[in-house]
Amino acid sequence: MPQQKALIIGAGIAGIATAIRLAVKGYAVEVFEANSYAGGKLSEFEQQDYRFDAGPSLFTMPQYVDDLFRLAGKKPEDYFTYQKLDVVCHYFYPDGTHLKAYADEQQFAEEVKAKTGEPAIFTHKYYRNSSRIYDITNHVFLEQSLHRLQTYLSSKTLKSILRLFQIDAFRTMHQANRSFFKDKRLVQYFDRYATYNGSNPYKAPATLNVIPHLEQHFGAYFPDGGMYSITSSLVRLAQDLGVIFHYNSPVDEIVVQGKKVEGLMVKGDLHLADVVVSNMDVWFTYRKLLSGHPQLFPENILSQERSSSALIFYWGINKQFPQLDLHNIFFSANYEAEFKAIWNEKAIYHDPTVYLNISSKYQTNDAPPCCENWFTMINVPANTGQDWDTLIAEARQNIVQKLSAQLGEEIVPLIINESILDPRSIESRTSSYQGSLYGTSSNSQFAAFLRHANRSATISNLYFCGGSVHPGGGIPLALLSAKIVSEWVV
Ligand code: FAD
Repeated sequence: MPQQKALIIGAGIAGIATAIRLAVKGYAVEVFEANSYAGGKLSEFEQQDYRFDAGPSLFTMPQYVDDLFRLAGKKPEDYFTYQKLDVVCHYFYPDGTHLKAYADEQQFAEEVKAKTGEPAIFTHKYYRNSSRIYDITNHVFLEQSLHRLQTYLSSKTLKSILRLFQIDAFRTMHQANRSFFKDKRLVQYFDRYATYNGSNPYKAPATLNVIPHLEQHFGAYFPDGGMYSITSSLVRLAQDLGVIFHYNSPVDEIVVQGKKVEGLMVKGDLHLADVVVSNMDVWFTYRKLLSGHPQLFPENILSQERSSSALIFYWGINKQFPQLDLHNIFFSANYEAEFKAIWNEKAIYHDPTVYLNISSKYQTNDAPPCCENWFTMINVPANTGQDWDTLIAEARQNIVQKLSAQLGEEIVPLIINESILDPRSIESRTSSYQGSLYGTSSNSQFAAFLRHANRSATISNLYFCGGSVHPGGGIPLALLSAKIVSEWVV
């Protein structure tokens, strides 16, 4: 039988992972990428003598990356290495509290007790709840397709379904967090996990309180070489397996004959395929690549609320700050008002929570000696046509004021180079509708069911991977989408 051909639209992390999995299955795989580089959001760039990871900075669930090397019969450490963080993140509160999120649960519970007075037993109880939600949901909601009958026929799934009443779907994350802790700082700490998939803790179901378990139990890591080494090592693996990457090659159309995919149109050429997998945001996949088939658009799915976006200032800083680490959070004084501004007013709050990532703390050559590379990010609404230039100018001023006050030093004179990423540029660089970081939001109990499936219900041999489809955004879930696609493709 001749070798089957799979064509993949986009070299985002899910597109690369799908390419690897299909190559291992015996497909001849080609990836068409619009940009001149791989990785999509998970890319890097240099700014004078500073290197920056452009997008993701927090690395969790490294086993999903390792799995790909093992699947291909390779040793992960020959391609990709990483180290576990002892302190996941440093939290700075407006009242001067500095909370260290130790990776070790007991140590963290003691830190919480020392800094907030909350008894350690409450912290342990919280993580037990988080772990229980994981045990129930992981198998059903993350590792398999929700859109395949087979999923519901296994006894493991049925057992999970019988326990679904225990996943706390009818309270918000914030309500649940308040029921665990009295201290507002700790509630804010746990509410923040909603932002891990671009959601709002005052709306998102408490089921998302599973996220702290993922970070605490499985840990947070720093990939040697920086986040981009996830992309570069997987591209190397894919190439070793014979996958062909075509850069600067935007796909213009998914060619459909009858109700079957025939191939792709790229720069005027038709490329025939047995299987097509789109790693392009599903919203744009339909509107741009399948524009001739509007009757096939799943409008109820495409109209779901998008996740939040981000505004990032990449600053080359000519000083080092020993009180800072790899991950640092400077909280706002009023978290609820901040989320109201983002979600209700579609604006940027005047006192935003600032996330500061400094990869040069671990990868010292990411900045010149005695300097640091600051990835300074705030959560902002998805792009619905706001006056971004004005919002960005105001936000920059508020951020530098906040950081200067918290660090006790004027930071503007220390910024020696700068570039900016905002919802518009996220949208244009990666074709992510409205510049959302994580596809659709998880602000409702039904979000998981209303995320697009990994296979088209109407066009045969058309599949979808990446953060805009099931099981959702973020590197771990994007990698799981690739696994689900490859298990579905025959
Ligand atoms: P994307 O990265 O969206 O890439 C899609 C690719 O498809 C792009 O390369 C694009 O050019 C290409 N493409 C699109 N259309 C076409 C076309 N027509 N033809 C050819 N190619 C096309 N996740 C975490 O786990 N941890 C974090 O700390 C984290 N922080 C983040 C911070 C930021 C600023 C951003 C932007 C994202 C962050 N995320 C984080 C989310 C994470 O980056 C994404 O969920 C994940 O990288 C999405 O991968 P993807 O495979 O869906 O594709």
